[in-house]
Amino acid sequence: MRIKISDKINLELTEQGFTYSNWIYIDDEVQSIIETGMDEDGLQGLECSKIDLVINSHHHLDHTRGNNLFPRAKIMIHELEADILRSDDLFISYNSLDLWDELMPGADVWEAFEEVGFNGCNRSFKPFDITRTVEPFADGQILDFGTVKAQVLHMPGHSVGHCCFWFPEEELFFSSDICLTKVGPWYGEHLADPDEMIRSIDRIIDLKPRRVVSSHIHEVIEDPTACLLEFKGRIVKREERVYNYLREHPSDIHALAAENLIYRAHPTNYVVFWEKLMLLKHIERLEKQGLVKQSDGTYFGV
Ligand SMILES: [Zn+2]
Ligand SMILES: [Zn+2]
Repeated sequence: MRIKISDKINLELTEQGFTYSNWIYIDDEVQSIIETGMDEDGLQGLECSKIDLVINSHHHLDHTRGNNLFPRAKIMIHELEADILRSDDLFISYNSLDLWDELMPGADVWEAFEEVGFNGCNRSFKPFDITRTVEPFADGQILDFGTVKAQVLHMPGHSVGHCCFWFPEEELFFSSDICLTKVGPWYGEHLADPDEMIRSIDRIIDLKPRRVVSSHIHEVIEDPTACLLEFKGRIVKREERVYNYLREHPSDIHALAAENLIYRAHPTNYVVFWEKLMLLKHIERLEKQGLVKQSDGTYFGV
């Protein structure tokens, strides 16, 4: 579904599922697209050859999977993630896929990858050309498209170089994977950080944007403060559930994951993997506070 934000800003809300993303087409002097979470079926008539600039909010495949659809475009991403787009090895480690065998014994990563919706990626974690030129941007940088201007806001937590985009003229905040969906927030990979996620959400609240849309919701949220506060509050609630459970039931990571303390349902193995990654983030936080200890792989609350 396409929503016209202004003459030149077109918001495309994806109908392809969560391994794809919403995207913004800026029909200005510098023809630009923010996020390429689409395949050819999701282009909605967009003429790829005219796009000069592709902007990725972060490296995750559901936001970058379509980069190759725009062969002429310059690609921009935050400076902390530019190298990930140029290296298969970095892509695996940044996504914590190096933990797969330990956390998911006996499960096939490729099957899980396809099951979750990354089919069509040809058994490649990264279906785009890693030799493309990538130009980094930094926090606060103004992206000048001609008439339209947007400010880059580095908002880590979900990933180390995760960025949001603020369109001051249109009072629109694009919050990328501060996703505001029912299942978020996500902060599972090595360099993700629930504390940074909290700070990033607070930064959006302080900015007081009139309207917010993320990469994965199907509406533009007006007056988003209450929604952002509830979203942030889920981090604390998850941690309480983990702590309370471990106080009663000392568990290893596999038994703990079976309790669905983060995600109510585990429809695929990939979601089980996410559950474990997210649990480890909360356990790490609880260990720092002295509330959880570990003995031979068993965690217990104190
Ligand atoms: Zn993401
Ligand atoms: Zn995403």
